[in-house]
Amino acid sequence: MTIRLADTHAHLDLPEIAPDRDAVLRRAREAGVELIINVGIGLKNSRQVLATARRYPGLRATIGIHPHAAASLKDGDLEALTPLAGDPLVVAVGEIGLDFYRRRSPEEVQKQWFRRQLEWAAALKKMVVIHTREATAATLKILQDSRSHLHGGVMHCFGGSWQEARSFLDLGFYLSFAGPLTYPQAGALREVAGKVPLDRILLETDCPYLTPQPWRGKRNEPAFVMATARQLAEVRGLPLAEVARATWENSLRAFGLEEKDILGER
Ligand SMILES: [Zn+2]
Ligand SMILES: [Zn+2]
Repeated sequence: MTIRLADTHAHLDLPEIAPDRDAVLRRAREAGVELIINVGIGLKNSRQVLATARRYPGLRATIGIHPHAAASLKDGDLEALTPLAGDPLVVAVGEIGLDFYRRRSPEEVQKQWFRRQLEWAAALKKMVVIHTREATAATLKILQDSRSHLHGGVMHCFGGSWQEARSFLDLGFYLSFAGPLTYPQAGALREVAGKVPLDRILLETDCPYLTPQPWRGKRNEPAFVMATARQLAEVRGLPLAEVARATWENSLRAFGLEEKDILGER
């Protein structure tokens, strides 16, 4: 039986990966990773992730500004990216959100640009990929305020409690689990992953960051999503093939993709 996986959150244009991207993507294919969402984090990077998605089979792109870069934004910047959104390879706006852990941009500036990008996504009729760190309550409040014009979304690298999981599920969002699900100290997170409805779970690497066990300490890459899939299978008490199939189908549904289009590009 073929194991087919999706890595729904990768950064293939960061300098940690870009120089040997051909080899990285070859290893991904060998590991059964047939779909990769290449996620934008800035103005220039959003153009790069789309250009990369055009060059390889099974890739899609998102465009958006990470909260770290919020302070560098100015009026007109989102409008300048708008033409990219018409490309069929652009499947979402993201990653956008709030990061009060590193606070590279002031909180109020992050909130302002998070709201503006949610409105932008609504106007573009795109779903959203959300980054939140040490900012769950504020993120949830802004998403709830925007609820009526959301077109679906993903909480990327979900690491919250069951109560927080339920709040995001109530918004109709998917929860995406990354390498930390495999970490020895992540018992509470594994318990949450055991309870989330299986049809609302995605898998991701967030590479080059958050490398799963047993490769922790090395650079992360899409092939390693297999380790997180295995961990999820163990948590759910299901065969790997079943978890792979469910998360594959969820990924297609979440990002509005057709399996025949993705596999037809090989
Ligand atoms: Zn992120
Ligand atoms: Zn990311």
